[in-house]
Formats: sequence, structure tokens, C-alpha cells
Amino acid sequence: MSYKLSILTYIDMYIELKESIFQTISDIISESGNESYVIGGYVRDLILGRKSKDIDIVTLGSGIELAKKVANKLKVKKVSYFKNFGTAMLISDDLDIEFVGARKESYQRNSRNPIVENGTLEDDQNRRDFTINALAISLNKDNYGELIDPFNGVSDIENKIITTPLDPDITYSDDPLRMLRAIRFASQLDFTISEESITSITKNKERISIISKERIAEELNKILLSAIPSTGFLLLDETGLLELIFPELCALKGVDVVEGMAHKDNFYHTLQVLDNVSKSTDNLWLKWAALLHDIGKPKTKKYIKNIGWTFHAHDFIGAKMVVDIFKNLKLPQNEKMKYVQKLVSLHLRPIALVEDVVSDSAVRRLLFEAGEDTEDLMTLCEADITSKNNAKIKLHLKNFELVRQKLIEVEEKDKVRNWQPPISGEEIIQALNIQPCKEVGTIKNAIKEAILDGKIENSHDAAYDFMIQTALNLGIYKK
Ligand code: ATP
Repeated sequence: MSYKLSILTYIDMYIELKESIFQTISDIISESGNESYVIGGYVRDLILGRKSKDIDIVTLGSGIELAKKVANKLKVKKVSYFKNFGTAMLISDDLDIEFVGARKESYQRNSRNPIVENGTLEDDQNRRDFTINALAISLNKDNYGELIDPFNGVSDIENKIITTPLDPDITYSDDPLRMLRAIRFASQLDFTISEESITSITKNKERISIISKERIAEELNKILLSAIPSTGFLLLDETGLLELIFPELCALKGVDVVEGMAHKDNFYHTLQVLDNVSKSTDNLWLKWAALLHDIGKPKTKKYIKNIGWTFHAHDFIGAKMVVDIFKNLKLPQNEKMKYVQKLVSLHLRPIALVEDVVSDSAVRRLLFEAGEDTEDLMTLCEADITSKNNAKIKLHLKNFELVRQKLIEVEEKDKVRNWQPPISGEEIIQALNIQPCKEVGTIKNAIKEAILDGKIENSHDAAYDFMIQTALNLGIYKK
């Protein structure tokens, strides 16, 4: 896609400025005399034709005072004040509008939080991370709508370049989060990072150590959510950041050759799977599962004579590694993580169902274990087919069609996908007239296994008869 700034873009911009909240702000500042500008990401996105809901207004004065006046005029009741940062935020018409006084920043070595003092618009534009993020539009009556672009940000948007307004070494060293932001924007917007920036990020990579894990994870999530996430991960690798923030992923790199036998490079394979999955989903956690599906391979890699390379139990080891990776990156330790673990641990199972004569019970067990995530598991497995040979890919995809068919047939018959035990522990206790004891669990489990093995139907009556029989065998029930 080309982002050449056309006359139409300017017309769109003009309409946006005419019809909107910006007029209201302009009216207010014409009374108070505080110059104000729309700045940063909103302007960038306006030019790119991307819809953005976050508006940043910078004012030569107090952002908090301006926010109060705007809220009054718009009859917005709730304004959030962040007095420490001198900013205020309100929501109007589904837009998040943040007000801040123009500022000048200076940094200390050990923190990404700058010392801040009041500044001019120029100071404020100087402190921005990238030229494309330093654009401002005037809201002042005398030059309303004028684009103020001191660093040729528009030209960088046209040329799809991410570069810093000032010396990149200072920009990235002052706030190393910007290194990740550069890579994230390159991935999100399909832009190229300038050579000076790549060199400088590489040089300053160790500075990433002062960035919190939460911030790193936030940027990784945004990279994952982009249309072709491999762009971001390849840049992380190229600059040396990946080794520092995600060593487990780096460990996937490389190809070993023994007796002329090579395995594939699991790093590039993983990125391809991630890109493949991203063609059919925006589900962040499914993307995490794609990124981590082979993460257990380096730990399980073995060369066996006459067999070749094996990665035995990498699904199991990988699922265990998910916990530490999520903990380390301060990602949620909840059902999202369990979902990722589940997909990593099950990602080899559908392949086993490809064979012609596969028992219903194997299909039933997979449905039972994958449950409502069966569809996502199949999406992951289909994305996992990577080969240079297109015919091979086609054949595998066709096989997976058959697996999907089998899954549908068995589910229609047996309904085990969202399986609930047909007989509760309570019912077992009452029917057998026994006290709660470990045999109740044994019987419940035996019923589940019998259903999954196809020995009995998935129904209350069949389970009831089976319960009586099992209790008789266990000697805890007499006719
Ligand atoms: P996104 O909303 O996708 O995260 P954004 O750039 O639109 O990206 P913010 O992250 O809220 O939105 O940042 C708003 C603006 O603030 C940016 O466009 C940029 O001008 C400035 N900015 C944000 N973070 C930094 C930073 N670490 N260093 C310098 N300027 C920054």
C-alpha cells in the first residue's frame, strides 16, 4: 500500500478538523490565549488513514486547566487527572482525549523517566520518539489546521521510514523503550527502520535492562497483533534485543547436521507458523501459542542413529515452559496462559489422526481434551504445515480436512466436546448409599474413561448401569 499524501488526505484531514471536537478546543483557546496543537500518533494515523481513538493535545500552558474547560463546554462529567505528570484525560464521543502542557525533557542514566520542565512546541516535538510521531496540527485561530512538521515526518510516512528526530544514540539510550517501539511500529505499519536507527539500537541494546517486563510484554503483544509479526521478531533478532528479552526464542535458532542429516531451523519455522496463523486470526493468545508451539524443541533435541533428529516430548516440555515464560514476562497467569499451554501440549495430536484407520476413541479423546478450543487447535496445526514444496502443503491440508470431518462426525455422535460427567459424585453417593470416599472418584473416572473409549454411550442411563457394575466389581455395593 502506498501512503502518498494526496489532496484527498488533506481534504479528509480538513473535514475531521472542521466537524469535530477540535473546533471546540480551538474556541476555548482563542479566549484563554494558550496555543494548542493536536500532536503525535493521532496526526500520524490521520495521514495514514488509520482510525485512531486516542487524541493528544499539547498546550502552551496547563493541560489540566485546558481539560477542565473542555470538559465544561462538552458537559463531560468525568475527567481523570494525573497531577504528577501534569496531564488530564477525558472521554467524549468514544474518543480518549489527553491534555498535556508542552514540555522539555532531560534524562538520567538509570531511568527512562525524564526530568520535565515547561517548554515550547518545538521542545515538545524534540522529545518525541520518531519523526512520524512528532507531527502537530495547529488548533489556533490564526493558523488553524496547519501541519507543523519540523523533522519531515510526512516524507518519512510517504517513504515508510521510522527514524528519530534527534541523534538516535541519545534518543534510544535516554528511553530504551523506544527501541521496542521502533520495531513494533515497523511491524504494525510495515515500515522500514532507518539504518542509523538499526545501528544505534544494536549499539544500545543492553539499555533494555532498565525497561520493565510489563512494558516489554506490551510491545511484544503489539508485534504479535500485527498482520505479519515475523517482521518485528526478525528485527528484534537482527538488533540483538531478542537474545536479551526472549532467550528461549533465540534458542530455536540454528541447524545441526550429523551424518549428513539436518533438522529445520525452528526459529524461522516458528515465525512462519506465526505469520500463517495471523492470516486467519486476531486472537492474541492463539498467536502466542503459535510462537511457543515448538519452544520445547531445543531442550529435547536428540540425534538417534538410523532414525535422525528427534524432539521427543517437546510438546509436553514446551507446555511446561509456557508457565516460566509467562511469569518472566509478567503475562497473565490465568486461563489465557492455560489456553496457550493447552494448544502447545496438544499441537501434535491432530497429525496423529491423519491416518486412514484411526479409532473413534482417539478422536473422542482429542475432542475431550481440546474442548471448546478444538477449532483453534486445528487452525494452529494447519499453520504448522511449512514446507518449500507446495504439493506437500496441499496434501497435508487435505489430510487435515479429513481430520476436521472426523472431529465433526464423532462430536455429532458422542457430544464430548464440552463434556460434563453424566453422573455427579453426589448421585453416586446417593445411588450406592455410601459415604463420601475415594471410590466415588474412582467410579467417576471409570465412567469417563469408558465413554472416551467408546465402551458405553455418553448418556445418563448408560453411565448409571456402568456405575452399578463398577461398584459391584469394587465390592462396595451389593444387589
Ligand atoms: P500506540 O497508540 O499505537 O501505542 P501512539 O504513538 O499512537 O502508539 P502513544 O504510545 O500513546 O501512542 O504515544 C503518543 C505519542 O507520544 C507518540 O506518538 C509519541 O509522539 C509520544 N511518545 C510516546 N511514547 C514515547 C516515548 N517513549 N518516547 C518519546 N515519545 C513518545
